[in-house]
Amino acid sequence: MSRTAIVIGSGIGGLAMGLRLQSLGFDTTLVEKLDAPGGRAYVRKVDGFTFDMGPTVITVPHFIEELFSLERGQSNLSLPDYPAEVLGDDKRIKTGISGGKNTSRYVKIVPILPFYRIYFDDGAFFDYDGDPENTRRQVQELGEPGDLEGYERFHSDARAIFERGFLELGYTHFGDLGTMLRVVPDLLKLDAVRTLFGFAAKYFKSDKLRQVFSFETLLVGGNPLSVPAIYAMVHFVEKTWGIHFAMGGTGALVKAFVQKFEELGGIMRYNAEVKKINVVREGSKKIAKGITLADGSTMHSDIVVSNADYANTYLRLVEPEYRFWQSDVIVRNRPQSMSLVVIYFGFRADGGEGEKLRHHNIILGPRYEELLKDIFGRRVLAKDFSQYLHIPTLTDPSLAPPGHHAAYTLIPVPHNGSRLDWDLLGEPFVNKILKFLQDRGYLPNLQQRLVHKSFITPDYFEHTLNSYLGNAFGPEPILAQSAFFRPHNKSEDISHLYLVGAGAQPGAGTPSVMMSAKMTARLVARDFGIVDEVKRNVEPPRPAEPVAGTD
Ligand SMILES: Cc1cc2nc3c(=O)[nH]c(=O)nc-3n(C[C@H](O)[C@H](O)[C@H](O)COP(=O)(O)OP(=O)(O)OC[C@H]3O[C@@H](n4cnc5c(N)ncnc54)[C@H](O)[C@@H]3O)c2cc1C
Repeated sequence: MSRTAIVIGSGIGGLAMGLRLQSLGFDTTLVEKLDAPGGRAYVRKVDGFTFDMGPTVITVPHFIEELFSLERGQSNLSLPDYPAEVLGDDKRIKTGISGGKNTSRYVKIVPILPFYRIYFDDGAFFDYDGDPENTRRQVQELGEPGDLEGYERFHSDARAIFERGFLELGYTHFGDLGTMLRVVPDLLKLDAVRTLFGFAAKYFKSDKLRQVFSFETLLVGGNPLSVPAIYAMVHFVEKTWGIHFAMGGTGALVKAFVQKFEELGGIMRYNAEVKKINVVREGSKKIAKGITLADGSTMHSDIVVSNADYANTYLRLVEPEYRFWQSDVIVRNRPQSMSLVVIYFGFRADGGEGEKLRHHNIILGPRYEELLKDIFGRRVLAKDFSQYLHIPTLTDPSLAPPGHHAAYTLIPVPHNGSRLDWDLLGEPFVNKILKFLQDRGYLPNLQQRLVHKSFITPDYFEHTLNSYLGNAFGPEPILAQSAFFRPHNKSEDISHLYLVGAGAQPGAGTPSVMMSAKMTARLVARDFGIVDEVKRNVEPPRPAEPVAGTD
């Protein structure tokens, strides 16, 4: 008998979930509020420029390959999460595992080197490329006495965290306290519960190196001063499998996921905002039975998976009478990650951009710890800033008209709990950032060369992407919101209601939301007694149809 599923939201996690559900034999409809897929990975096309609005740094390409290898009735959920060919020292980055044969049928993914150029406020920089010799040389040049030896220890301890935390436990769904308690001794032994910045400070005396080896969590919304050191694994994930870029932009990857989903029989519905998850009581059980859309129509389904923001899923879409573990008080009290201002801009190339800048650039401001406290703790808009400047046209010129570059720069700012008025603050802040890039010589004469400028603020996250308080990355990844303490991928209150994406386990970032889809798919498979391989030749898929009226 064929089963139906609805996924709310077409972020990368939602699309991965759609693919997983089709492979499990569900007839899946993905309903998206916006007019196109991707969520944070939405694409803005304007004046001949193509801007990825969100994720640009692609890591763990074999997670992508796994999704493109799925077939209807062939979920592969019982295969090893890390097949032998992606492990083993010599096979990593160098084998160019960017693609994989299934991926390359849909999208071309290429490795990027260096991974990042990290500029400090005094103009010095560190090119991080995962190469041990390059890293050692730069650690020695920038560091203080003892830092090179510290790097060797950091490397070995971060590897141990990566092996236990990512390779062995990465796919564990912490649905009960027992599962969590079983890993606590290991985390303590690995010193993975102290803060990441504190962890880096143990090995490096140099402030610069402490920043180089702790900033990466900002790309998934984590404050290095408060994320647990388990996040040191991010450094190792990058080192192990490299950093990659989808030619045509991340939007090309999103488009490819949609194509694959539709090939497997899935249905996409855009401009379809969900207003309610319909729940019915059957005896003592509360069961999700479908959704109500903004136009009042309803859709029935056997399961509902929300890829929408965690807090708003519960606060706005599920009536309070059905929630105990996710009551308003509990949900509202969860700290949310920071937000962002992102400036998309196009400019005439002068040919010299590639000298000072690389594809991915981190430009750190004069303060590190105090700036983080302003953003995450005091929630004020500081005078100084740090930014991530992305120039994809250094890799793929097709993203801009001939002779031009497309770029974006992203600046962490407090979420909307700060009550900053972005209508007033936005434009002057954006102009200040662009002037900085010009005056500091990163992009000389930018004002004269600029041909397009647009930007988003925390208000975009709150009102367009429906993210609670305008968070950019879901609940803040602190220890008290990690593993068991992070929202569960399966509702504790309502049967047949699941979560996927940045707000669920394991957390934000494109590889994590793909992992999240696999974890949720395993929970669904278990709940529905699907023993991995559903029969190969299932009957043609039947979509969930909109039904007039309400339940
Ligand atoms: C600017 C930026 C840069 C980033 N850079 C990187 C990076 O380089 N590398 C990396 O790994 N990660 C990066 N991240 C993080 C990463 O993009 C996200 O963690 C990830 O893409 C989130 O995916 P998701 O599946 O949780 O869904 P989201 O992308 O959050 O999508 C959720 C979808 O749900 C829809 N929705 C919400 N409410 C409703 C409703 N009621 N009805 C219907 N639809 C609804 C929204 O419109 C949206 O499309 C970045 C994030 C941002 C914001």
